[in-house]
Amino acid sequence: MPTATKTEFEPVIGLEVHVQLKTASKMFCGCAVQFGAPANSLTCPVCLGLPGALPMVNRQAVEYGIRIGLALNCQIAHRIKFDRKNYFYPDLPKGYQISQFDEPLCFDGELQLPIHDESGQPKVCRITRAHLEEDAGKSIHMEGSTLVDLNRAGTPLIEIVGGPDLRSPEEAYVYLNTLKRNLSYLGVSDLSMEKGSLRCDANVSIRPRGQQKFGVRSEIKNLNSFRMVRSALEFEIRRHQQVIESGGTLTQDTRLWDDEKGETRSMRSKEEATDYRFFPEPDLATFDVPREWVESVRLSLPEMPEKRLLRFLDDYKLAEADAEYLVGDKALADFYESALKLLDEPRKVAAWVVGEVTRELNDRNASISELKLTPEALVELIGLLDAGKLNNITAKEVFHAMVEAGEGALQAARRLNKLIEQDEGALSAMIDEVIEEFKDRAVADFKAGEEKALGFLIGQVMRKLKGKANPKELGPKIAARING
Ligand code: ADP
Ligand code: MG
Ligand code: ZN
Repeated sequence: MPTATKTEFEPVIGLEVHVQLKTASKMFCGCAVQFGAPANSLTCPVCLGLPGALPMVNRQAVEYGIRIGLALNCQIAHRIKFDRKNYFYPDLPKGYQISQFDEPLCFDGELQLPIHDESGQPKVCRITRAHLEEDAGKSIHMEGSTLVDLNRAGTPLIEIVGGPDLRSPEEAYVYLNTLKRNLSYLGVSDLSMEKGSLRCDANVSIRPRGQQKFGVRSEIKNLNSFRMVRSALEFEIRRHQQVIESGGTLTQDTRLWDDEKGETRSMRSKEEATDYRFFPEPDLATFDVPREWVESVRLSLPEMPEKRLLRFLDDYKLAEADAEYLVGDKALADFYESALKLLDEPRKVAAWVVGEVTRELNDRNASISELKLTPEALVELIGLLDAGKLNNITAKEVFHAMVEAGEGALQAARRLNKLIEQDEGALSAMIDEVIEEFKDRAVADFKAGEEKALGFLIGQVMRKLKGKANPKELGPKIAARING
């Protein structure tokens, strides 16, 4: 009896990303948007949902929304319309969220990913829509009771809905990193998953390879990092496959990722899904979005990473990996270009930023803006190295110390006593001492033509000078002394 060949399944993934907008005030009231303030200190009748309080639209939030939409190659709606999304939850004091239902601010966009699809074309993921809404408050679950903090209630959000175009957890991971990178160029959000200013829900289904129709999907929530998104998708794809292969049927559901257990569990099925009873927000009139406004926002967009990457490759002749790395973090790329303005040595400066600067960032889990390092200080350090006042080893030591203390390179080099003093007399004396000490061994070997022996002698002099010399300059000096 012929055995049936096992069906090969293809995952289909679409991501919904919520981004908190970094406006000064909330979406519909004047309360400050701020993380970590005393609970319920940033509230007013509007965001507390008190009866009779009326919302007003934050123009800056709409502009940030347009900015995001344009950066994602979206169409921008000709008018703004808000809707009520009704549901009950303790951290939603009004009993509804003001959102956009049938007329999103942005639609029909796309995000190009730095990977290729199966046919070798650059992978593009459609952006179905991006709409404005307000955030809910926070429930703090304690033993026996739940506290509610409404500081976050009313914070402007944009929800970016990606098309069902991703075909693997890895592609989803790349999508998120690329989206975050591009958004970071806009200066509209902190984009911190830890602080909750960037959040992601993942939708996934599988289908037999070649089939057009999508399979039944699960939506996964509680994903607190991009790594979790990838792991949860991997788990969920396996689970779907097992259900199908064992002859079961999948039902559309919403699931929670349990990172400790490494599994998802069902939160609610489609039947239990809330009916949000969307309807137009009667407290807010619709208003027009003039094309002049959209065009002025378009003009204010910075050079986006795809373009910047090409420029870094063409103008600075950087290695592709270095250019991609730098461009991946706008602040770091800006830092790099500020340093270049002071020292026109693109590859040399890149080596430092990609190397030691990045090591410091990783060690401290910090971003470049948090690091006590200015482009001036880095360039000063490279200058000391180039002038032979530091060597490759002491330059790294001084770099580490100056970042630690937030001081200049020369200052740090002096403090650590690492500056190479050009005291030729002392240096010759030291060379003579070493030659005398090793005259029967390394010196004799060197005279007999053994080049390696010179390296040993350089090391000996370096040791006596406690590293305060330039090994490159020492070699010829020692050789001249021996031969002379
Ligand atoms: P809803 O209105 O229920 O939120 P949407 O149609 O807006 O559903 O889709 C939400 C997200 O789910 C989008 O990112 C979309 O790409 C994705 N999605 C939709 N259908 C599927 C499917 N069958 N498999 C995987 N992802 C899907
Ligand atoms: Mg949705
Ligand atoms: Zn308020």
